Amino acid sequence: QKTIDNIAAGEVIERPASVVKELVENAIDAKATAVTVEIKDGGMTLMRVTDNGCGIPKEEVKTAFLRHATSKIRTVEDLVCVSSLGFRGEALSSISAVGQVEVITKTAGAFSGVSYKIFGGEEQGFEEIGAPDGTTFLVRNLFYNTPARRKFLKSPVTEAGYVEQIMVHMALSHPDVAFKFIHNSKNKMYTSGNGNVKDIIYHLYGREVAGALLPISVESQTAKVDGYIGKPFISRGNRNYESYFINGRYIKSKIIYKAVEDGYKTFTMAHKYPFVCLNIQVEPELLDVNVHPTKMEIRFRNERELYELIESGIKEVLTHKEI
Ligand code: ADP
Ligand code: MG
Repeated sequence: QKTIDNIAAGEVIERPASVVKELVENAIDAKATAVTVEIKDGGMTLMRVTDNGCGIPKEEVKTAFLRHATSKIRTVEDLVCVSSLGFRGEALSSISAVGQVEVITKTAGAFSGVSYKIFGGEEQGFEEIGAPDGTTFLVRNLFYNTPARRKFLKSPVTEAGYVEQIMVHMALSHPDVAFKFIHNSKNKMYTSGNGNVKDIIYHLYGREVAGALLPISVESQTAKVDGYIGKPFISRGNRNYESYFINGRYIKSKIIYKAVEDGYKTFTMAHKYPFVCLNIQVEPELLDVNVHPTKMEIRFRNERELYELIESGIKEVLTHKEI
């Protein structure tokens, strides 16, 4: 069983950034309004994720680490209409299989919090302790028990960069949450949680990089697209400045790339990429998010409609604003 857990963990947990992604998604699902991520040495020695969300009830702490433990789906039908970020109940079991995990958590109604330690899937201790409302996960020495996997990690600076990317995606898709990211005691980024995506874009990328931004907001029968797009003449040689979120989840999608780039086509030179940040809401039953365990790739049943909505929306914005 341990081996099976380790193999399965590898699908979801590739590197420190995957741990941070899963833990931050859980914090958001727990309705946190502030999430702080602190890591040391690119996350290899320590990752700490603190939230002010609902906490985990004492009697559910241990079961949350069991494989397929999730409080977020109750029936098989729910699987096809997922609106929370997590739903497979694999993250905590996977993380605890390959790291030394401590969780400190307290629900608002409880008199005290609990601390639970689980290292490489083995329980190390469970005790009541004083704690603020919310949850803190500490993950130490990732892949300490799977040295082969540790060898695939890049330098701490590179790994920290991957974590920062996750934090940027989280901040752009959840403007109401105040995020903080600290690496080796240095503040790397923070957002205020004031709900303003444009502020966040300028704060994270800088005005020079993002350029002047045009708001976009379009809707079809099955989808709604909101965000900001850059003016076409400030374009770049790669897609590093395109971010797309479906129902709050960062994704990569060929059909969306194509829609955006086709929308820009008549306004810009070929093979240049714009600055774009789009939050797309789609009826969950029109999504197939299970194509890959890390949930980055997604399929749409309303692909054609979504393409047309985005392509024509971008053309419309670029046509009507003086550029
Ligand atoms: P999933 O997110 O797919 O449900 P996870 O393994 O990520 O599965 O988490 C298991 C369960 O642990 C969640 O369903 C939730 O009930 C609980 N949980 C995890 N992290 C938190 C958190 N930060 N705050 C409150 N509950 C949490
Ligand atoms: Mg989860």
